[in-house]
Amino acid sequence: MKSYQVCACSAPLELCEQPTPTPTGTEVLLKVIAAGLCHSDLHFWEGTYDIGGGKVMRLADRGVKLPLTLGHENVGRVVAVGPDATGVAIGDKRLIYPWIGCGACAVCRRGDEQLCLKPQYIGVFRPGGFSDHVMVPDPRCLVDYGNLPAELAAPLACSGLTAYSALKKFGDLLKTEPVVIVGAGGVGLMALAILRAMDARGAIVVDTDPGKREAALRAGALAAIDGLADDATGQVQSVVNDRIWAVVDFVGSGTTVKLGTDLLTKGGHLVVVGLFGGEITLPTPYIPMRAMTIQGSYTGSLPELRELVTLLRTMPGDFMPVEVRPLDCVNASFNDLKEGRIIGRVVLAPN
Ligand SMILES: [Zn+2]
Ligand SMILES: [Zn+2]
Repeated sequence: MKSYQVCACSAPLELCEQPTPTPTGTEVLLKVIAAGLCHSDLHFWEGTYDIGGGKVMRLADRGVKLPLTLGHENVGRVVAVGPDATGVAIGDKRLIYPWIGCGACAVCRRGDEQLCLKPQYIGVFRPGGFSDHVMVPDPRCLVDYGNLPAELAAPLACSGLTAYSALKKFGDLLKTEPVVIVGAGGVGLMALAILRAMDARGAIVVDTDPGKREAALRAGALAAIDGLADDATGQVQSVVNDRIWAVVDFVGSGTTVKLGTDLLTKGGHLVVVGLFGGEITLPTPYIPMRAMTIQGSYTGSLPELRELVTLLRTMPGDFMPVEVRPLDCVNASFNDLKEGRIIGRVVLAPN
């Protein structure tokens, strides 16, 4: 088994060769077909999150150990199954749900294992898909993606699921009110496609990058506003000529979360997803006086991933721009992502 591993934070990933593992118990071994490169891989690679005020949170303190094979947006073909694995056969092509928990606690049992306090996320706490093989602990985390192309299915495990779970938090508002999407990177573009599939009212996109604004308009945004403009708030409000009820922030910097709270009308709802980092100062009386909801959203549940695949399986056309690169381009791709040179998603495929 050949894997690209992080051996030291921010250093180039190293190609490591190990014996291909044999599944035991309920484990399932898949040959990787496609593995998406996600913005959070950058955080895992650098080993830190910026929590504002010059402080950082270290992933090592949260139990992330090196060396680590990253890659949590994986599609593969089953090549071996453990003696206790049921409902899966050799040759099956499956999308892997990576946000697995202990499987036994109350949170896991009610289907929210992404919130388990003993996470075993694939590509974070367990070896991921920047490799030719990936092992999953249980067939329950395998999702049939039907006829979707593998390179479009792979990003659904994180960028798609993250966008879907965040948007679902607005409930029925989506049918009648436009959503403001802050950040038109991979997840923002995915959100636009999902809104289309959900028959929602649509979205106004805010991004500082002209190329990303253009991509958002091509993906069906009602308008695309430059977040650096002096009157960005006014420009967004003038598009709808009405109150803003729902903002989803896929950047998550101090500046964008402030923009989000400024945009919201009384009773409005801000969902923060991005992990760019920073901090905000918010006068506490605003929270009750504006009846404001500020909610965080982290990935999504396994049932939500199944719903999302069902929703998109029948959607005509590509739902996000994807570029397939050979796996040995992984280091160049990390650099491109870091420098903001990627529109949509890069998906790596073993050579
Ligand atoms: Zn659990
Ligand atoms: Zn991700």
